Amino acid sequence: MKYRTYLFVGTVLMGLFFSKKRISGGTTEDDCAGVSQEIIDNCVFCNIIKDNTRVIQYQDDDVVVFSDRTPKASTHLLVIPRRHIKSVKTLKPSDLPTVLKMKDIAQTIANRDFSGSAYRLGFHIPPFYSIPHLHLHLLVEPFTPTRKRFNYTPHLGGLWYKSVDTIIESLSKDHIV
Ligand SMILES: [Zn+2]
Ligand SMILES: [Zn+2]
Repeated sequence: MKYRTYLFVGTVLMGLFFSKKRISGGTTEDDCAGVSQEIIDNCVFCNIIKDNTRVIQYQDDDVVVFSDRTPKASTHLLVIPRRHIKSVKTLKPSDLPTVLKMKDIAQTIANRDFSGSAYRLGFHIPPFYSIPHLHLHLLVEPFTPTRKRFNYTPHLGGLWYKSVDTIIESLSKDHIV
């Protein structure tokens, strides 16, 4: 009982903590296979891809990479699929190749540009995310400020954050996240 109470209070606090950055568009629990044009038109990341409004660090037919607008580490990049996928919660096992490719590109960038530096690759878990378009965080340490590390650490069984490898493991076992 006590534990559940703490968990509940913790969840509410984390929700408040992240809610400042949440946007209202596209938050319905739809299946991404049938993403409506309206959701795509209102998606911040789909619009960045369409209008080229951000410096693109890397792009190919499947994946686009750009900097987080409010970096939480010395380097903070977002690796996103071109195709609108809402979040890790809507990933299906058939999306595994996309996630593997996102990880591969992030690792290539980290090893090429930041060799020798510690880095983290992971996803936020709904509702603890800001933009409802799947984005893999690449954070090269140190975190700025240091306390931001907490937001990108899989505490409480990954309640608000999971590493890319954890997500890949779930999808490989045919589990949803
Ligand atoms: Zn999108
Ligand atoms: Zn995030």
